[in-house]
Order: sequence, then structure tokens, then C-alpha cells
Amino acid sequence: MGHDISKVLVTEEQITEMCDRIAQQLDSDYKDREPVIVGILTGAFIFTADLVRRMRIPVIVDFMQVASYVGTESTGELIIKKELSTDVTGRDVLVVEDIIDTGRTMELVKSELLNRGAKSVKVCAAFDKPDRRVNDFIPDYCGIVIPDEFIVGYGLDYDGKYRNIKDVRIVR
Ligand code: 5GP
Ligand code: MG
Repeated sequence: MGHDISKVLVTEEQITEMCDRIAQQLDSDYKDREPVIVGILTGAFIFTADLVRRMRIPVIVDFMQVASYVGTESTGELIIKKELSTDVTGRDVLVVEDIIDTGRTMELVKSELLNRGAKSVKVCAAFDKPDRRVNDFIPDYCGIVIPDEFIVGYGLDYDGKYRNIKDVRIVR
């Protein structure tokens, strides 16, 4: 049933520090622009909540659930499992993601939102695994760069479990 998740990679204290730092940066970068914050379900639900409640500027908060499907073409296809309720036309959009791995999902989400007429689309990721990238995607805001390990906690799951762990652990 259980897995070995005894190895802590990112502490609660580091998470708090990264949220404070990014929220402060977003407040200054998005001042007077009322950004649409798009949290990517399910993994980013905690990070999104932590960020927006630290922000002091007005924001719209929405969520979408997506998956990227890699078929025969290396570009892949975006599958929308839960749609936004907000029209992003002409809006400054900030996508909040739990972790960037290959970079495929965020590349597809970004072009989808730009196709819908968003004025700008930037991506904020809690964690980044640049070693795994298959494209040149770079998040505009990044919390913590991590090595090529599978992590859980702080919203991230293994088989649907461990999302409620407060720090981030390596699954071994
Ligand atoms: P990619 O960047 O490869 O398109 O996909 C990133 C997605 O893969 C993330 O949103 C997340 O759902 C999942 N993912 C990638 N690395 C990890 C990891 O270390 N732990 C967990 N729980 N999910 C991961
Ligand atoms: Mg995800």
C-alpha cells in the first residue's frame, strides 16, 4: 500500500519562502492589470491558493484540468478535461502549474490560451525539472529547481495519494 516517501526534498519553510517571493513579484508585475490566474488541476490547487492569498492586487481565479497526449507527432495534443469558466480574451493570464517536466503540457496550454485571444500568457511553476525537458520551454516564474526525481506532496500525487503532505518528498 505505502511507498517509501521518507526522503524530504523541499521543506515547508522553503515552500513558504518561495510563495512569499513569487507573490511579491507578481504583485509588482501585475499591478493595475487584474490578471486571470489559471490554476492547473489537480496538482496546482494548493500552490494556487498559497499564491493568491498572499497577493494584494485584484485577481480573477479560475482552474482548468488538462492532459497532453503524445501521439505520432512530437508536438502533442492538449486534452481539456475541465474547462475554464472565464473568457480570457484580452486578459493577462497567469497559468499556475505544480511542476514542469518535459514541458509539453505548458507549451500546449500557453498556445491554447493565446489562440483564445489572451493579451499575455505567463507561466508560474512551483517546481521545475529542467533535465527532463524535450523542448525549450522556460517558466516565467519558478519556485524551486529540482533534480530528476519523482516527487509527491504539496499538491503532487502518486496514484492520487500524498497530495496533502505539507513538504515535498521523493518517491523511492
Ligand atoms: P510535462 O511538463 O511533462 O508536460 O508534464 C508535467 C506534468 O507531469 C505535471 O503537471 C505533473 O502532473 C506531472 N509530473 C511531472 N513530474 C512529476 C513528479 O515528479 N511528481 C508528480 N506527482 N507529478 C509529476
Ligand atoms: Mg499536472
